Amino acid sequence: MKKLTYLTFSLFSIFSFAQEVSKERLHTVLETLASDEMKGREIGTTENDSAANYIAKLFKENNLEYCTGNSYLVPFDYKGKTAYNVCGVKKGKTDKYLGFSGHFDHIGMSKDPKDNIYNGADDDASGITTLVGIADYFKDKKPDFSMVFMAFNGEEKGMLGSKAISKDQNLDKIYNNMTTLFNFEMVATESAFGKNALFMTGDEFSDLDELFNKNAANGLKINPDPYASEQLFYRSDNVNFVKKKIIAHSFSTVDMTKVTHYHHENDDINVVDFDNLTQIVNNFGKTLEKLNPKNFTPKYNEKVKF
Ligand SMILES: [Zn+2]
Repeated sequence: MKKLTYLTFSLFSIFSFAQEVSKERLHTVLETLASDEMKGREIGTTENDSAANYIAKLFKENNLEYCTGNSYLVPFDYKGKTAYNVCGVKKGKTDKYLGFSGHFDHIGMSKDPKDNIYNGADDDASGITTLVGIADYFKDKKPDFSMVFMAFNGEEKGMLGSKAISKDQNLDKIYNNMTTLFNFEMVATESAFGKNALFMTGDEFSDLDELFNKNAANGLKINPDPYASEQLFYRSDNVNFVKKKIIAHSFSTVDMTKVTHYHHENDDINVVDFDNLTQIVNNFGKTLEKLNPKNFTPKYNEKVKF
C-alpha cells in the first residue's frame, strides 16, 4: 500500500509539476527555425541572418544579458562577409558558468523537385530549442551557477562559428570561469536508450555523466556514447572548447542505426517527438537547479586529447 501511494505520488508529480516549459512553446521555437521561410539556414544567406535575429529575440524575451558588446549577435568573418553567432548570459548567484550550445545553421536548399528545403528540424533546430527551453526554465529563477547560451553558426561548413567564438577574447572572462559546456546536437527523437534519455559523446574522457546522473531529476539519464568509434566527441562543436581544456561534450538522442533523415530534405518537423523533448528540457532544468560550484566539479581524465 505504501509503495502504491508513493508510485501514485511520483506519477502525479511528473505530470503536474514537470512542465514548466510547455510543449507549445518548444513547438513554436522549433517550427520557426525549421520553417520553409528559413530555407535551410545556410551560412552566408539572409535566412541565416533571420535565424540569428530570431534567436536574439528569444534571448531578449528571457532577459539574458549580452555576452560582449551591445548585441546578442557576435560577428565573425565568413568568406569576407560578416556572419553571426548568438550569445546571451544569465547571471546566477556565483560567477562560475555552465554553458549551453547548439548550432542554428544548416545546409540550405537542394534540387529535389518534390522538397527542395533542408529544414534541419533535428539538425540542429532541436538543439537550439533545447537551449532556449533551458533559458525559459530559468527566466524567473536565480540558479547557483551563471549560465551562458551560445547558438553557433557555420557548423555545417566545418564548425566555423564555434571556432571563432571560442577564440574571441572578449568572452575570456566567461571561458575562464566555465565549469562545463553542454552542446546539444540532434535531440529531436527518442534515443536508442528510450525516452527521457540522451547519450554523451566522449563519456570515457570525463566524469560529467556520472556527476549529472547522480543529481538527475525524474529519471532523466545520460548514457554512454553507443557510437564511440565515430569519434563524435572530436567532430562536433564542443571540440573547440575541449581545446581550451573546458569540460565540453555533445549530447544527442539520435539513433544512428535507424536515422534516415540525417542531411536529407525529410529532416523536418514531422521527425520531432515533442513530448520527449519537453520532458528532457524540463528535467534538464530541474537537474541543473540542484547543481552548484561545490557539488558539480567535473574533470577530464588522462585519456582525453586536447
Ligand atoms: Zn548538426
